[in-house]
Amino acid sequence: MRGRALTTGAAWPATVVMQCSRVLIAGAAYHRALMATFLDDLRAVAPQMRLLTDEADRESFRRDETAHFEPGLPLAVALPTSTEEVATILRTATAHGTPVVPRGAGSGLSGGSAGIEGALTVALTRMDRVLEIDRDNRVAVVQPGVINADLKKAVAAEELFYAPDPASYEFCSIGGNIGTNAGGLCCVKYGVTRDAVLSLEVVLADGRVIRTGGRNVKDVAGYSLTHLFVGSQGTLGIVTEATLRLRPTPPPKQTMLAFFPTLDAAGRAVATMTRSGVEPCTLELMDRVTIAAVDDWHNLGLDRSAAALLLVESDAPGARADDELAVAESACTEAGASSIVRATDAMEADWLRQVRRLAFRAMERLGVARMEDVGAPRSRIPELLAAIERIAAAHDVRCGTFGHAGDGNLHPTFVWDRGDTDTEERAHAAAEELYRAAIALGGTLTGEHGIGAARREFLELQRGADAVDVMRSIKAALDPLGILNPGRVV
Ligand SMILES: Cc1cc2nc3c(=O)[nH]c(=O)nc-3n(C[C@H](O)[C@H](O)[C@H](O)COP(=O)(O)OP(=O)(O)OC[C@H]3O[C@@H](n4cnc5c(N)ncnc54)[C@H](O)[C@@H]3O)c2cc1C
Repeated sequence: MRGRALTTGAAWPATVVMQCSRVLIAGAAYHRALMATFLDDLRAVAPQMRLLTDEADRESFRRDETAHFEPGLPLAVALPTSTEEVATILRTATAHGTPVVPRGAGSGLSGGSAGIEGALTVALTRMDRVLEIDRDNRVAVVQPGVINADLKKAVAAEELFYAPDPASYEFCSIGGNIGTNAGGLCCVKYGVTRDAVLSLEVVLADGRVIRTGGRNVKDVAGYSLTHLFVGSQGTLGIVTEATLRLRPTPPPKQTMLAFFPTLDAAGRAVATMTRSGVEPCTLELMDRVTIAAVDDWHNLGLDRSAAALLLVESDAPGARADDELAVAESACTEAGASSIVRATDAMEADWLRQVRRLAFRAMERLGVARMEDVGAPRSRIPELLAAIERIAAAHDVRCGTFGHAGDGNLHPTFVWDRGDTDTEERAHAAAEELYRAAIALGGTLTGEHGIGAARREFLELQRGADAVDVMRSIKAALDPLGILNPGRVV
């Protein structure tokens, strides 16, 4: 009743409605004037910096890849080219109390770099230089806008290897990878982004610039601030430089695909492989729906009668790679695999790998795709897979599951037709039940995409009120005005 009265004005005297409207209009005008002053000040202190204020430009920075999340339109988009410019932006934002959204390539899947109405988006894409490759200490020093694949290429020319490889590696940035603590296909052997970050240069909310860590293999001087910033999704500071751990180039990979008649069989094969002690560098899963989506798109001749496939790779040196795949093969056979294909050369291996990399885009072709990111201890993968199937069926939502089975991290992806709000609601309920199921298995509601904006209301479910309270205290200590990516993570 009250909501209706406010919309129509029917239940309020005309004079009250007029007064309220005047206050609202005056408030909005005042707010616009404040924003304009902020932008004028920013132009004055950083005259060389590109600042996009045109609506079409701002619109192109509204979203990340979280299709089901409805973000705001940025006030403006700043494209700094140096640490000093980033510091100037944050000093000015602090002086005006203007919120700031740090952004890399915008490929995130939790709404972390999506726009906020009235906030300045700071896109780090123009800070895209590899500053140094230090062969002696096996580190690379990079700016945050470097694309992951470009870094891999640059260090490969020096016979070195940068391990973290999200499936989006061809278009996501190192700054975004650090912001989300990105995982990827070879994390099962080489760890996640956090394991590759040695040191950071970070601009704090008030414009101070700090350095964490260093090039030392061992360094325990004070709290580990590096690890605090990795995965903080732009809520504690803006990363302007990173020193990253490199490895010697691993030997070429041996690659196989195994098809299974049931999801459970694939899950059991993963659990057996993990128990056996082999160290594949890739152990990925795709279910029936995802196999069909990829095959429909690229007509690859995949076994569509299979309920699941596993992609397994080993980059162990010499004959050990063959031995590892032999162990993987017997784990798959023992679990009831219906067929196993081994790549005979590098091109074929690349083709098999591509099957997995196409998974999300293939699901997106079916409708609005809400990719979830749950995890469980690896021994409980069969139970997690069963829970996903049960929950999707109970809520009557189409779901394709794929992901990093070797890490215990899966991406059940709910799909619905655009505009079908009923199914969207059911997908939301299914996601919430999924989080509870993963947590009950001792797992997590997000393995690598982050809490961001899309999962914030569920953080306490996993971590508990006291732990979230500690997170809020850290946030308040580093960003007392709350201008950095407000409403994200905590
Ligand atoms: C097809 C596809 C496949 C994907 N596969 C994977 C995968 O295998 N593994 C995985 O982990 N993710 C995956 N992702 C998700 C996404 O690519 C990663 O989260 C990636 O790390 C985001 O990088 P970005 O440069 O696009 O960052 P953005 O999306 O722009 O930002 C991500 C977060 O980091 C923050 N941020 C960005 N730059 C900085 C900075 N300089 N300082 C501080 N904070 C910053 C942002 O505020 C935001 O919260 C996939 C996405 C797609 C579309």
